[in-house]
Amino acid sequence: MTNQDVIQLTNEYILNSYKRFPVALERGEHATLYDFEGKSYIDFASGIGVCSLGYGNENWLAAITAQAKKLPHTSNLYYTEPAAQAAKLLCDRTGMKGVFFCNSGAEANEGAIKLARKYSYDKYGAGRSDIVTLHHSFHGRTITTLAATGQDVFHDFFFPFTEGFLYAEPDDVASVKSVCSCGTVCAVMMELIQGEGGVLPLDKAFIQEVAQFCKDRDILLLIDEVQTGVGRTGTLFCFQQFGIKPDVVSFAKGIAAGLPFGGVLASASCAGVFSPGTHATTFGGNPICAAGAIAVLGELTPELLAEVAEKGEYLRSAIASWKLPVVSSVRGLGLMIGVGVTCSHREAVGALMDNGLLALTAGEDTIRLMPPLTISKAEIDAGLAILKQILTGYSSK
Ligand SMILES: *Cc1c(COP(=O)(O)O)cnc(C)c1O
Repeated sequence: MTNQDVIQLTNEYILNSYKRFPVALERGEHATLYDFEGKSYIDFASGIGVCSLGYGNENWLAAITAQAKKLPHTSNLYYTEPAAQAAKLLCDRTGMKGVFFCNSGAEANEGAIKLARKYSYDKYGAGRSDIVTLHHSFHGRTITTLAATGQDVFHDFFFPFTEGFLYAEPDDVASVKSVCSCGTVCAVMMELIQGEGGVLPLDKAFIQEVAQFCKDRDILLLIDEVQTGVGRTGTLFCFQQFGIKPDVVSFAKGIAAGLPFGGVLASASCAGVFSPGTHATTFGGNPICAAGAIAVLGELTPELLAEVAEKGEYLRSAIASWKLPVVSSVRGLGLMIGVGVTCSHREAVGALMDNGLLALTAGEDTIRLMPPLTISKAEIDAGLAILKQILTGYSSK
């Protein structure tokens, strides 16, 4: 097939819910992707922070193909080894007590929300089921996680949304306290760097004060690490850089390096909330995905995580050093980077793509960079050269 064949077939038969760029990708190697005509793209996107090991990682490939041959699926009526091993690794490396596995970020957040409501119901009875989220947040595309998402643009068309969500201002502790003062709140859910909202890092003091406030009132702290998690910010989970102990952590995107996998980690005080029959999903803990996750966790050594932090610093300081008028700010942690621009972010990402660099947009004015965690210095430099050329062009317009 040619690029155009794939694009035409897609447009004819796949429902038109995505704003796609006119690029069809056939294969990848390390952090470089190729279309059907052999044009190459440096990957500063990783899907959307999913392909954490790039393309062709041997350990990951061996793990998932061996598991596919042995046993691809069983259901959760039986026990399997990969899910059990992946769960132990995640708990050992986070201090959490247990995990519920699922297939996506929205589903992980649904699980976190259900867990928080049942925790509160078990302890305090009905009437304490509200969840506070932050403006500019993004928590998923199901009816409930759209309700949780603190952006009005997502609260359209699909009424009625799930009730029981209240919104507070990020980096404003007084706002969180005031929203919680109604006494009906069982949890605060937030991303530590708001990803889709624009790569907006929350203030450390805000995070720590909200954590303390929640602890004092037995309000659960739910951290949505669907985007920030699994090495993306230079530690296994982002919360580990903030000296906080969340009650619940959701994750997905990068955990299985391209396979659909996610989960909800629960602290010791929350690990008993789900009793048999209260929560489930057919594919949760799928052995192939779990084998992929074990391979990812094996690759994310302290050395690799330190490299992620260092490569992120390198990218941010390179971009800042160009001092281009079109760049309004450079933000982020590790390899989750936001470049604020005064031109159209979508147009700029299109121009980068034409020139062989895949990047993402975020928020209203941000180019978002999330390369594979294993990207090489040479690939970073090749990507930076394209970014510099395009942004320099916009600066002189
Ligand atoms: C992507 C994302 C989600 C939704 O994940 P899906 O796998 O698309 O359902 C939820 N929360 C955050 C922070 C995300 O970045």
